[in-house]
Amino acid sequence: MALMINEDCTACDACKPACPNEAISAGDPMYVIDALRCTECVGAHDEPQCKLVCPAQCIVANPDFEETQEELMAKYESLHS
Ligand code: SF4
Repeated sequence: MALMINEDCTACDACKPACPNEAISAGDPMYVIDALRCTECVGAHDEPQCKLVCPAQCIVANPDFEETQEELMAKYESLHS
């Protein structure tokens, strides 16, 4: 399941450099996670790095992108091959 950023985002830019998949971009008014690039950090880290650094705690599961651990790993490998 990819993650998404909700309306509590303050556009502080803390999350963008933390993402190993370059899935986060600045949006207007809030930042955006590209669900096709987010692996929930599977393949790179033990837990989602953006959630760790977000001071607004506005990063949540994206219900439109339900994926298994295996699918997330395959996505990671295809992004970094
Ligand atoms: Fe990037 Fe990881 Fe956050 Fe997904 S969970 S947007 S891969 S930092």
